[in-house]
Amino acid sequence: MHQAFLLKYAEIGIKGKNRYKFENALCEQIRHRLAKIDGEFEVVREQGRIFVEARGEFDFEDAVEAMSRVFGVSAISPVDVIEDKSWDNLVKSVGDFVEKQYDERNFTFKVKSRRSDKHYPLTSPEVCVEMGGCLLERFPELSVDVHHPEVFIWVEIREKAYVYSRVYPGACGMPLGTNGKAMLLLSGGIDSPVAGYMIAKRGVYIDAVYFHAPPYTSERAKQKVVDLAKLISCYTGPIRLHVVNFTDIQMYIYEECPHEELTIIMRRYMMRIAEDLAVKNSCLGLITGESIGQVASQTMHSLMATNDVCELPVYRPLIGFDKQDIVDISEKIGTYETSIQPYEDCCTIFVAKHPVTKPNVEIIRRSERKLEEKIDEMVKTALDTIEIIEVDE
Ligand code: ATP
Ligand code: MG
Repeated sequence: MHQAFLLKYAEIGIKGKNRYKFENALCEQIRHRLAKIDGEFEVVREQGRIFVEARGEFDFEDAVEAMSRVFGVSAISPVDVIEDKSWDNLVKSVGDFVEKQYDERNFTFKVKSRRSDKHYPLTSPEVCVEMGGCLLERFPELSVDVHHPEVFIWVEIREKAYVYSRVYPGACGMPLGTNGKAMLLLSGGIDSPVAGYMIAKRGVYIDAVYFHAPPYTSERAKQKVVDLAKLISCYTGPIRLHVVNFTDIQMYIYEECPHEELTIIMRRYMMRIAEDLAVKNSCLGLITGESIGQVASQTMHSLMATNDVCELPVYRPLIGFDKQDIVDISEKIGTYETSIQPYEDCCTIFVAKHPVTKPNVEIIRRSERKLEEKIDEMVKTALDTIEIIEVDE
């Protein structure tokens, strides 16, 4: 079977001179994604749109799903390319297309037309009217509804002619690789996978870091984070996951610092280590799943105290989101079920009964001085003993 798809993209269209770079990155990502499924596909760029042609056998659903996960693609439509666009052949081909696409043909429709070939004997409105009439003649069960049709049939007349109708939604956003790379602090929760997805959606490659505290956090808890990374990688591309052994640092803070400050100080060390890894891996920022007020460590005061240790920008795409909004996205991208598995999290192990909700940066800095003796060595050891897991869909 020879099947082609027309892929549309939204924002890239407005990028002026850089447009071709975005289009190339997009084609690259589509090729990359399709290479992972059975079948042979050719991706070509033509007059501000992208065509994917399948050669030989392939699984239609797999192909559409793969393309719908490519950031930058806004819509995917199966299309028939009509080489001989003479009116008689066009009418026949459009009819054949309708017959092939729709088994039941008792819907209301409207023909939409676009014409870039200005020498074509019919204008766009004429194509719509005439083609509508021809379709009614061939399929008497159909009826026209120009206001609220159930089905649009698009006929485009360019160098060749094209007909398409069904539209599968794309992931939108910007193609990966058009906006550098960032380091995601990935926990096993609901929020951070969504945060990573959202930044990747703007064209940013993702690396990740997970703070593991064995034996307080189990192998299962770590596996859950690997699973989450794998789930988002079908959107974000391969993720290099850094697993940091955080136990000694956490215990040391627990022994030396006031317990109500534990979470904040711990989070400051997470950010410091994440930043170090980010710089070493050419990342241009950090990403967290924080949202104002969600927990004590995410009040404005707490965020300020955490942010205090970072020089790189910290991207918090969920900052203004309600929990339910975040849950909705996690369900959409398929991470929710994994996120709610009940494995312990290193942040909850030593959590104080009454953590500070308005930490004062000066006081926190003073508390951290109690760690002076061993902390640098511990951070160094944590960085030297990182386990790297390459995660791919
Ligand atoms: P999440 O649902 O993402 O776990 P949360 O609501 O549990 O978030 P916190 O535990 O306060 O919130 O964590 C805030 C952010 O800090 C997380 O979104 C994540 O980016 C980062 N983070 C927390 N714990 C870890 C960890 N063990 N390893 C890596 N990053 C972490
Ligand atoms: Mg968490």
